[in-house]
Amino acid sequence: MARVRLEHVTKRYDDVVAVDDMNVEIEDGEFVCLVGPSGCGKSTTMETIAGLTRPSEGTVYIGETDVTNLAPKDRGIAMVFQNIALFPHMDVFENVSFGLRLRTFDDEEIERRVEEAAEIVQLEGMLDRMPDEMSGGQRQRVAIARAIVRNPDVFLMDEPLANLDAKLRVHMRTELQRLHKQLDTTIIYVTHDQAEAMTMSDRIAVIDAGRLQQIDPPLTCYNEPANLFVAGFIGSPSMNFVRGTVVAGGLETENFDLEFDPAGVPEVGVGDEVTLGVRPEDVHLVADADGSARRIGTIEATTDVLEPMGDEIFVYLLLDEESEGSMEEDPMASQDQLLMSVSPDTDLREGDAVEVTLDGSKTHLFDAESGDALVHGIAGRSGSDPGTAPTEAED
Ligand code: ADP
Repeated sequence: MARVRLEHVTKRYDDVVAVDDMNVEIEDGEFVCLVGPSGCGKSTTMETIAGLTRPSEGTVYIGETDVTNLAPKDRGIAMVFQNIALFPHMDVFENVSFGLRLRTFDDEEIERRVEEAAEIVQLEGMLDRMPDEMSGGQRQRVAIARAIVRNPDVFLMDEPLANLDAKLRVHMRTELQRLHKQLDTTIIYVTHDQAEAMTMSDRIAVIDAGRLQQIDPPLTCYNEPANLFVAGFIGSPSMNFVRGTVVAGGLETENFDLEFDPAGVPEVGVGDEVTLGVRPEDVHLVADADGSARRIGTIEATTDVLEPMGDEIFVYLLLDEESEGSMEEDPMASQDQLLMSVSPDTDLREGDAVEVTLDGSKTHLFDAESGDALVHGIAGRSGSDPGTAPTEAED
Protein backbone atom coordinates (compact mmCIF):
# COMPACT_ATOMS: atom_id res chain seq x y z
CA MET A 1 0.00 0.00 0.00
CA ALA A 2 1.11 3.51 -0.66
CA ARG A 3 -0.28 6.91 -1.17
CA VAL A 4 0.15 8.66 -4.49
CA ARG A 5 0.57 12.38 -4.92
CA LEU A 6 0.74 14.52 -8.05
CA GLU A 7 2.05 18.02 -7.54
CA HIS A 8 1.53 20.53 -10.35
CA VAL A 9 1.86 17.81 -12.98
CA THR A 10 1.64 19.12 -16.53
CA LYS A 11 2.22 17.14 -19.71
CA ARG A 12 2.52 18.86 -23.07
CA TYR A 13 2.75 17.28 -26.51
CA ASP A 14 3.72 19.93 -29.06
CA ASP A 15 0.64 22.15 -29.06
CA VAL A 16 -1.55 19.89 -26.88
CA VAL A 17 -1.68 20.26 -23.10
CA ALA A 18 -2.76 16.72 -22.19
CA VAL A 19 -2.51 17.27 -18.41
CA ASP A 20 -2.73 20.77 -17.04
CA ASP A 21 -1.35 21.54 -13.56
CA MET A 22 -2.81 18.45 -11.88
CA ASN A 23 -2.75 18.34 -8.08
CA VAL A 24 -4.11 15.13 -6.60
CA GLU A 25 -3.50 13.22 -3.42
CA ILE A 26 -4.66 9.61 -3.28
CA GLU A 27 -4.66 8.01 0.15
CA ASP A 28 -3.13 4.73 1.13
CA GLY A 29 -5.60 1.97 0.26
CA GLU A 30 -7.98 4.25 -1.58
CA PHE A 31 -9.81 3.27 -4.79
CA VAL A 32 -9.88 6.36 -6.99
CA CYS A 33 -11.32 6.55 -10.51
CA LEU A 34 -10.04 9.09 -13.00
CA VAL A 35 -13.06 9.84 -15.13
CA GLY A 36 -13.83 12.18 -18.00
CA PRO A 37 -14.59 12.21 -21.72
CA SER A 38 -12.26 10.72 -24.30
CA GLY A 39 -9.14 12.84 -24.76
CA CYS A 40 -9.43 14.66 -21.41
CA GLY A 41 -6.05 13.40 -20.20
CA LYS A 42 -6.95 10.42 -17.99
CA SER A 43 -4.50 7.99 -19.56
CA THR A 44 -1.72 10.54 -19.70
CA THR A 45 -2.21 11.26 -15.99
CA MET A 46 -2.02 7.53 -15.31
CA GLU A 47 1.07 7.20 -17.51
CA THR A 48 2.87 9.84 -15.45
CA ILE A 49 2.13 7.78 -12.32
CA ALA A 50 3.21 4.56 -14.03
CA GLY A 51 6.39 6.10 -15.40
CA LEU A 52 5.45 5.41 -19.01
CA THR A 53 5.74 9.11 -19.72
CA ARG A 54 7.63 11.87 -17.97
CA PRO A 55 5.71 15.03 -17.03
CA SER A 56 6.80 18.29 -18.67
CA GLU A 57 6.50 19.87 -15.22
CA GLY A 58 5.64 18.76 -11.73
CA THR A 59 6.41 15.92 -9.36
CA VAL A 60 4.94 12.46 -8.79
CA TYR A 61 5.26 10.82 -5.38
CA ILE A 62 4.50 7.21 -4.49
CA GLY A 63 4.66 6.81 -0.76
CA GLU A 64 7.21 9.37 0.33
CA THR A 65 9.44 8.81 -2.70
CA ASP A 66 9.75 11.24 -5.58
CA VAL A 67 9.36 8.79 -8.49
CA THR A 68 9.18 11.38 -11.28
CA ASN A 69 12.36 10.10 -12.86
CA LEU A 70 12.20 6.45 -11.80
CA ALA A 71 11.62 3.62 -14.29
CA PRO A 72 8.22 1.87 -14.08
CA LYS A 73 9.78 -1.28 -12.64
CA ASP A 74 11.19 0.67 -9.69
CA ARG A 75 7.91 2.30 -8.67
CA GLY A 76 6.17 -0.57 -6.83
CA ILE A 77 3.24 -0.51 -9.24
CA ALA A 78 1.42 -3.08 -11.36
CA MET A 79 -0.69 -2.23 -14.38
CA VAL A 80 -3.76 -3.75 -15.99
CA PHE A 81 -4.83 -2.44 -19.38
CA GLN A 82 -7.83 -2.64 -21.66
CA ASN A 83 -6.00 -4.82 -24.16
CA ILE A 84 -5.08 -7.93 -22.31
CA ALA A 85 -1.77 -9.06 -23.72
CA LEU A 86 -1.48 -12.69 -22.66
CA PHE A 87 1.15 -14.90 -24.26
CA PRO A 88 -0.94 -17.20 -26.48
CA HIS A 89 1.49 -20.12 -26.29
CA MET A 90 1.65 -20.10 -22.47
CA ASP A 91 -0.93 -21.51 -20.10
CA VAL A 92 -2.42 -19.52 -17.22
CA PHE A 93 0.26 -20.52 -14.74
CA GLU A 94 3.04 -19.48 -17.11
CA ASN A 95 1.31 -16.22 -18.01
CA VAL A 96 0.71 -15.27 -14.39
CA SER A 97 4.18 -16.24 -13.24
CA PHE A 98 6.07 -14.77 -16.20
CA GLY A 99 7.25 -11.61 -14.43
CA LEU A 100 8.26 -13.54 -11.32
CA ARG A 101 10.30 -16.00 -13.36
CA LEU A 102 12.11 -13.09 -15.00
CA ARG A 103 12.98 -11.84 -11.53
CA THR A 104 14.27 -15.28 -10.60
CA PHE A 105 12.04 -15.96 -7.63
CA ASP A 106 12.43 -19.56 -6.46
CA ASP A 107 9.91 -22.14 -7.66
CA GLU A 108 8.21 -22.58 -4.31
CA GLU A 109 7.61 -18.82 -3.91
CA ILE A 110 6.32 -18.56 -7.49
CA GLU A 111 3.90 -21.41 -6.96
CA ARG A 112 2.66 -19.95 -3.69
CA ARG A 113 2.04 -16.51 -5.17
CA VAL A 114 0.33 -17.83 -8.32
CA GLU A 115 -1.97 -20.07 -6.31
CA GLU A 116 -2.88 -17.26 -3.96
CA ALA A 117 -3.60 -14.87 -6.85
CA ALA A 118 -5.59 -17.55 -8.71
CA GLU A 119 -7.73 -17.99 -5.64
CA ILE A 120 -8.34 -14.27 -5.30
CA VAL A 121 -9.49 -13.93 -8.92
CA GLN A 122 -11.26 -17.32 -8.77
CA LEU A 123 -9.22 -19.09 -11.41
CA GLU A 124 -8.29 -22.10 -9.27
CA GLY A 125 -8.33 -25.24 -11.36
CA MET A 126 -7.69 -23.32 -14.56
CA LEU A 127 -3.95 -22.86 -14.26
CA ASP A 128 -3.21 -25.23 -17.14
CA ARG A 129 -5.71 -23.65 -19.55
CA MET A 130 -4.45 -21.87 -22.65
CA PRO A 131 -5.68 -18.28 -23.30
CA ASP A 132 -7.72 -19.31 -26.35
CA GLU A 133 -9.66 -21.75 -24.15
CA MET A 134 -10.91 -18.93 -21.93
CA SER A 135 -13.65 -16.29 -22.07
CA GLY A 136 -12.87 -12.56 -22.17
CA GLY A 137 -13.70 -12.23 -18.50
CA GLN A 138 -11.44 -15.11 -17.54
CA ARG A 139 -8.58 -13.69 -19.60
CA GLN A 140 -9.04 -10.34 -17.85
CA ARG A 141 -8.81 -12.15 -14.52
CA VAL A 142 -5.54 -13.74 -15.64
CA ALA A 143 -4.23 -10.24 -16.36
CA ILE A 144 -5.31 -9.10 -12.89
CA ALA A 145 -3.70 -12.17 -11.30
CA ARG A 146 -0.48 -11.31 -13.12
CA ALA A 147 -0.60 -7.89 -11.45
CA ILE A 148 -1.44 -9.35 -8.02
CA VAL A 149 1.55 -11.74 -7.92
CA ARG A 150 3.86 -8.77 -8.15
CA ASN A 151 2.53 -7.64 -4.78
CA PRO A 152 2.50 -3.97 -5.79
CA ASP A 153 1.97 -0.94 -3.56
CA VAL A 154 -0.34 0.55 -6.16
CA PHE A 155 -2.52 -0.98 -8.89
CA LEU A 156 -2.99 1.12 -12.00
CA MET A 157 -5.87 0.07 -14.22
CA ASP A 158 -6.66 1.73 -17.53
CA GLU A 159 -10.15 0.84 -18.81
CA PRO A 160 -9.57 -2.84 -17.93
CA LEU A 161 -13.21 -3.75 -18.55
CA ALA A 162 -13.80 -1.80 -21.75
CA ASN A 163 -13.57 -4.81 -24.04
CA LEU A 164 -16.00 -6.96 -22.08
CA ASP A 165 -19.71 -7.23 -22.84
CA ALA A 166 -22.11 -5.19 -20.72
CA LYS A 167 -23.19 -7.99 -18.39
CA LEU A 168 -19.67 -9.19 -17.70
CA ARG A 169 -18.53 -5.62 -17.12
CA VAL A 170 -21.09 -5.16 -14.36
CA HIS A 171 -20.03 -8.49 -12.83
CA MET A 172 -16.33 -7.59 -12.98
CA ARG A 173 -17.05 -4.27 -11.24
CA THR A 174 -18.23 -6.23 -8.22
CA GLU A 175 -15.18 -8.47 -8.45
CA LEU A 176 -12.83 -5.50 -8.50
CA GLN A 177 -14.49 -4.06 -5.41
CA ARG A 178 -14.09 -7.40 -3.67
CA LEU A 179 -10.47 -7.54 -4.81
CA HIS A 180 -9.85 -4.06 -3.44
CA LYS A 181 -11.27 -5.04 -0.07
CA GLN A 182 -9.30 -8.26 0.02
CA LEU A 183 -5.95 -6.79 -1.03
CA ASP A 184 -6.47 -3.57 0.90
CA THR A 185 -4.31 -1.75 -1.63
CA THR A 186 -4.34 1.55 -3.47
CA ILE A 187 -6.10 1.33 -6.84
CA ILE A 188 -6.14 4.06 -9.46
CA TYR A 189 -8.56 3.28 -12.23
CA VAL A 190 -9.15 5.10 -15.52
CA THR A 191 -12.58 5.01 -17.13
CA HIS A 192 -14.71 7.18 -19.40
CA ASP A 193 -17.79 5.49 -17.95
CA GLN A 194 -19.22 7.56 -15.13
CA ALA A 195 -21.45 4.68 -13.97
CA GLU A 196 -18.36 2.50 -13.52
CA ALA A 197 -16.69 5.29 -11.54
CA MET A 198 -19.78 5.91 -9.42
CA THR A 199 -20.22 2.28 -8.42
CA MET A 200 -16.64 1.33 -7.58
CA SER A 201 -14.66 4.21 -6.20
CA ASP A 202 -14.05 5.74 -2.81
CA ARG A 203 -13.50 9.01 -4.66
CA ILE A 204 -13.87 10.14 -8.25
CA ALA A 205 -11.46 12.55 -9.91
CA VAL A 206 -13.40 14.24 -12.70
CA ILE A 207 -11.14 15.59 -15.44
CA ASP A 208 -11.93 17.85 -18.38
CA ALA A 209 -9.45 19.21 -20.91
CA GLY A 210 -6.50 18.09 -18.80
CA ARG A 211 -7.72 19.86 -15.67
CA LEU A 212 -9.03 18.35 -12.47
CA GLN A 213 -12.60 19.57 -11.98
CA GLN A 214 -13.47 17.86 -8.71
CA ILE A 215 -12.22 14.99 -6.55
CA ASP A 216 -14.80 13.76 -4.09
CA PRO A 217 -16.82 10.69 -3.11
CA PRO A 218 -19.26 9.65 -5.86
CA LEU A 219 -22.37 10.93 -4.14
CA THR A 220 -20.76 14.29 -3.39
CA CYS A 221 -19.97 14.67 -7.09
CA TYR A 222 -23.58 13.74 -7.84
CA ASN A 223 -25.28 15.91 -5.22
CA GLU A 224 -22.84 18.79 -4.99
CA PRO A 225 -21.08 19.07 -8.35
CA ALA A 226 -18.38 21.73 -8.27
CA ASN A 227 -19.30 23.13 -11.66
CA LEU A 228 -21.41 22.69 -14.78
CA PHE A 229 -19.01 20.19 -16.30
CA VAL A 230 -19.21 17.79 -13.36
CA ALA A 231 -22.97 18.33 -13.08
CA GLY A 232 -23.44 17.37 -16.72
CA PHE A 233 -20.95 14.52 -16.78
CA ILE A 234 -21.96 12.64 -13.62
CA GLY A 235 -25.43 11.09 -13.77
CA SER A 236 -27.28 9.54 -16.65
CA PRO A 237 -29.34 10.92 -18.23
CA SER A 238 -27.73 14.26 -17.74
CA MET A 239 -28.88 17.12 -15.53
CA ASN A 240 -31.19 19.72 -17.15
CA PHE A 241 -29.66 23.17 -17.54
CA VAL A 242 -31.63 26.39 -18.05
CA ARG A 243 -30.20 29.89 -18.20
CA GLY A 244 -31.86 32.57 -16.12
CA THR A 245 -31.62 35.81 -14.18
CA VAL A 246 -32.08 36.20 -10.44
CA VAL A 247 -34.93 38.66 -9.72
CA ALA A 248 -36.50 39.93 -6.49
CA GLY A 249 -38.98 37.04 -6.30
CA GLY A 250 -36.81 34.22 -7.60
CA LEU A 251 -35.55 33.31 -11.03
CA GLU A 252 -36.68 34.33 -14.47
CA THR A 253 -35.96 32.14 -17.48
CA GLU A 254 -37.06 32.31 -21.08
CA ASN A 255 -39.96 29.91 -20.60
CA PHE A 256 -40.82 29.93 -16.89
CA ASP A 257 -40.29 31.67 -13.57
CA LEU A 258 -39.38 30.07 -10.25
CA GLU A 259 -40.37 31.56 -6.92
CA PHE A 260 -37.88 31.54 -4.11
CA ASP A 261 -36.50 34.19 -1.81
CA PRO A 262 -33.06 35.30 -3.06
CA ALA A 263 -32.47 36.87 0.37
CA GLY A 264 -32.29 33.31 1.71
CA VAL A 265 -29.61 32.39 -0.81
CA PRO A 266 -26.66 34.64 0.00
CA GLU A 267 -24.56 33.08 -2.76
CA VAL A 268 -26.57 34.95 -5.40
CA GLY A 269 -27.82 38.49 -5.79
CA VAL A 270 -30.63 40.12 -7.76
CA GLY A 271 -29.48 40.66 -11.34
CA ASP A 272 -27.06 37.73 -11.41
CA GLU A 273 -26.99 35.69 -14.60
CA VAL A 274 -27.06 32.03 -13.64
CA THR A 275 -27.58 28.56 -15.03
CA LEU A 276 -30.14 26.51 -13.17
CA GLY A 277 -29.45 22.79 -12.95
CA VAL A 278 -31.94 20.12 -11.97
CA ARG A 279 -31.79 16.36 -12.44
CA PRO A 280 -34.66 14.55 -14.22
CA GLU A 281 -35.68 12.81 -10.97
CA ASP A 282 -36.11 16.19 -9.26
CA VAL A 283 -38.67 17.40 -11.80
CA HIS A 284 -42.15 16.34 -10.65
CA LEU A 285 -45.67 16.54 -11.94
CA VAL A 286 -47.50 19.09 -9.78
CA ALA A 287 -50.19 16.47 -9.23
CA ASP A 288 -47.60 14.07 -7.73
CA ALA A 289 -45.41 16.51 -5.85
CA ASP A 290 -45.23 16.07 -2.11
CA GLY A 291 -44.96 18.73 0.66
CA SER A 292 -45.06 22.24 -0.80
CA ALA A 293 -42.02 23.51 1.15
CA ARG A 294 -39.60 22.01 -1.31
CA ARG A 295 -41.40 22.64 -4.53
CA ILE A 296 -40.68 25.79 -6.44
CA GLY A 297 -42.64 27.13 -9.36
CA THR A 298 -45.25 25.76 -11.67
CA ILE A 299 -44.01 25.13 -15.15
CA GLU A 300 -46.45 24.54 -17.98
CA ALA A 301 -45.24 22.05 -20.54
CA THR A 302 -46.33 19.61 -23.19
CA THR A 303 -45.08 16.05 -23.11
CA ASP A 304 -43.09 15.02 -26.14
CA VAL A 305 -41.29 11.69 -26.41
CA LEU A 306 -41.79 9.13 -23.61
CA GLU A 307 -39.12 6.52 -22.94
CA PRO A 308 -40.32 3.70 -20.67
CA MET A 309 -37.28 2.13 -18.98
CA GLY A 310 -39.14 -0.44 -16.88
CA ASP A 311 -38.42 1.03 -13.47
CA GLU A 312 -39.10 4.62 -14.57
CA ILE A 313 -40.27 6.62 -17.57
CA PHE A 314 -38.22 9.43 -19.06
CA VAL A 315 -40.50 12.17 -20.29
CA TYR A 316 -39.22 14.90 -22.60
CA LEU A 317 -41.14 18.07 -21.86
CA LEU A 318 -41.51 20.94 -24.31
CA LEU A 319 -41.68 24.27 -22.54
CA ASP A 320 -42.50 26.41 -25.54
CA GLU A 321 -45.50 25.53 -27.68
CA GLU A 322 -43.78 26.93 -30.75
CA SER A 323 -40.79 24.66 -30.21
CA GLU A 324 -40.15 21.98 -32.79
CA GLY A 325 -39.10 19.58 -30.08
CA SER A 326 -35.87 18.57 -31.72
CA MET A 327 -33.94 16.31 -29.38
CA GLU A 328 -30.79 18.24 -28.79
CA GLU A 329 -27.79 16.09 -28.00
CA ASP A 330 -26.33 18.78 -25.82
CA PRO A 331 -28.64 19.63 -22.94
CA MET A 332 -27.05 23.08 -22.73
CA ALA A 333 -28.12 23.79 -26.29
CA SER A 334 -31.83 23.77 -25.67
CA GLN A 335 -33.70 26.14 -23.43
CA ASP A 336 -37.03 24.77 -24.58
CA GLN A 337 -37.07 21.33 -23.07
CA LEU A 338 -36.73 19.57 -19.75
CA LEU A 339 -36.28 15.90 -19.07
CA MET A 340 -38.38 14.46 -16.26
CA SER A 341 -38.29 11.01 -14.73
CA VAL A 342 -41.58 9.64 -13.41
CA SER A 343 -42.68 6.35 -11.89
CA PRO A 344 -43.58 3.61 -14.42
CA ASP A 345 -47.28 3.61 -13.53
CA THR A 346 -47.73 7.29 -14.44
CA ASP A 347 -50.50 7.70 -17.00
CA LEU A 348 -49.05 10.01 -19.63
CA ARG A 349 -49.21 10.17 -23.40
CA GLU A 350 -47.32 12.14 -25.96
CA GLY A 351 -48.87 15.59 -26.41
CA ASP A 352 -50.42 15.88 -22.92
CA ALA A 353 -50.48 19.31 -21.32
CA VAL A 354 -48.91 19.02 -17.88
CA GLU A 355 -47.79 21.20 -14.99
CA VAL A 356 -44.46 20.36 -13.43
CA THR A 357 -42.50 21.70 -10.48
CA LEU A 358 -38.93 21.37 -9.23
CA ASP A 359 -37.60 20.08 -5.95
CA GLY A 360 -36.03 23.30 -4.68
CA SER A 361 -33.80 21.44 -2.25
CA LYS A 362 -32.13 19.75 -5.21
CA THR A 363 -32.07 22.68 -7.59
CA HIS A 364 -28.57 23.98 -8.26
CA LEU A 365 -27.40 27.38 -9.45
CA PHE A 366 -24.18 27.87 -11.39
CA ASP A 367 -22.44 31.05 -12.41
CA ALA A 368 -23.53 31.61 -16.03
CA GLU A 369 -20.08 32.73 -17.08
CA SER A 370 -17.57 30.59 -15.16
CA GLY A 371 -19.85 27.58 -14.70
CA ASP A 372 -18.80 27.28 -11.05
CA ALA A 373 -21.47 26.06 -8.65
CA LEU A 374 -22.97 28.82 -6.52
CA VAL A 375 -25.44 26.87 -4.42
CA HIS A 376 -26.91 23.36 -4.17
CA GLY A 377 -30.53 23.69 -3.07
CA ILE A 378 -32.27 27.05 -3.25
CA ALA A 379 -35.36 26.35 -1.19
CA GLY A 380 -36.88 23.97 1.30
CA ARG A 381 -33.70 22.39 2.57
CA SER A 382 -33.93 21.75 6.31
CA GLY A 383 -36.06 24.80 7.08
CA SER A 384 -34.81 27.98 5.55
CA ASP A 385 -31.24 26.76 5.16
CA PRO A 386 -30.49 27.44 1.53
CA GLY A 387 -27.98 24.65 1.22
CA THR A 388 -24.26 24.32 1.28
CA ALA A 389 -21.76 26.21 -0.75
CA PRO A 390 -19.58 24.03 -2.90
CA THR A 391 -16.04 23.22 -1.93
CA GLU A 392 -13.21 24.44 -4.10
CA ALA A 393 -12.16 22.09 -6.88
CA GLU A 394 -8.61 20.78 -6.58
CA ASP A 395 -8.61 20.99 -2.81
P1 ADP B 1 -7.92 10.07 -22.35
O1 ADP B 1 -7.18 8.94 -21.70
O2 ADP B 1 -8.69 10.88 -21.37
O3 ADP B 1 -8.77 9.62 -23.50
P2 ADP B 1 -5.30 10.93 -23.21
O4 ADP B 1 -4.58 11.12 -21.93
O5 ADP B 1 -5.05 9.68 -23.96
O6 ADP B 1 -6.86 11.10 -22.95
O7 ADP B 1 -5.00 12.15 -24.17
C1 ADP B 1 -5.07 13.51 -23.76
C2 ADP B 1 -4.69 14.41 -24.92
O8 ADP B 1 -3.30 14.26 -25.21
C3 ADP B 1 -5.41 14.10 -26.21
O9 ADP B 1 -5.64 15.32 -26.87
C4 ADP B 1 -4.42 13.25 -26.97
O10 ADP B 1 -4.61 13.39 -28.35
C5 ADP B 1 -3.09 13.85 -26.52
N1 ADP B 1 -2.01 12.84 -26.53
C6 ADP B 1 -1.93 11.73 -25.76
N2 ADP B 1 -0.79 11.04 -26.00
C7 ADP B 1 -0.13 11.73 -26.97
C8 ADP B 1 1.13 11.55 -27.65
N3 ADP B 1 1.92 10.50 -27.38
N4 ADP B 1 1.47 12.47 -28.57
C9 ADP B 1 0.69 13.53 -28.82
N5 ADP B 1 -0.48 13.78 -28.22
C10 ADP B 1 -0.91 12.90 -27.31
